[in-house]
Amino acid sequence: MLLTILSSLAQDESRSISENSTWGIRRRFEQGKHKMSTKRFLGYDSDEEGHLIVNRQQAKIVVRLYEEFLSGKTVDYIARIFKAEKIRNWDGKYNWHASTLDSMLRNEKYMGDTILQKSYTADFLSKRRVVNDGDLPKYHIKKDHEPIMDIETWEAVRAELDRRAQYCTEHFTNAYSQKTETNPFYAKIICGNCGSTYSRVKYTTRAGTAITKWRCGSCNKTNGHKICSNRYVTDETFKKLFVMSWNEIVEKQTNYQESWHDNIKGDDVLLKYKTRLVM
Ligand SMILES: [Zn+2]
Repeated sequence: MLLTILSSLAQDESRSISENSTWGIRRRFEQGKHKMSTKRFLGYDSDEEGHLIVNRQQAKIVVRLYEEFLSGKTVDYIARIFKAEKIRNWDGKYNWHASTLDSMLRNEKYMGDTILQKSYTADFLSKRRVVNDGDLPKYHIKKDHEPIMDIETWEAVRAELDRRAQYCTEHFTNAYSQKTETNPFYAKIICGNCGSTYSRVKYTTRAGTAITKWRCGSCNKTNGHKICSNRYVTDETFKKLFVMSWNEIVEKQTNYQESWHDNIKGDDVLLKYKTRLVM
């Protein structure tokens, strides 16, 4: 019983310390004041007062990540590139995780803003942190510090993240790309019949020839029951068709100039960015 009383006293003590410090932090948030540790945060250091200062060396990696992503690569692929090129992470190691790169693409700090109280400690004993989905006020401070990314590129990345998510839903695929280095057509060929993506099948004929063909991905769904009868296409055909389409764009560039200029002047940040890449 004594132990129970003692432990409940200790709990109350812990709660009151926790509530006091939380109160202090939230009052500072309301005034737009905040301090964060930048040790694990790539691209910034902080001064004595907690202001974010751009780390020029690390900022180059952030810019590269945003550009590679907008050129069409996935975070998995970019992580492999960073590892292969021996680019150092904040801890000096060459370890890169796709999930970290993904959250870097979504972080508003890279365009100079700060959102305070994105998460909070829900349980003062276990220190469990949860995402703030509107239970507590959030504070969005605009132009809080020097940006690394310009606002247009940052917004283009957000639009591209949404576009890829929507693309996957529309075409019944759970990955936008996979092993692009060896399988560039993955999830990029859409069945004209049912809207599913085509998938690659490798097999050997009775005569012993290895063949790579593509078929509609809905073929092997619902226990192998064929729900779409669209035909097989060989790897070679896709390669030829791709080169033909690309050459057509290059040859008839002048035909596209007008719409490209419209894109540049328009409001669609993503279209604007991608048009600049081809012009
Ligand atoms: Zn189909």
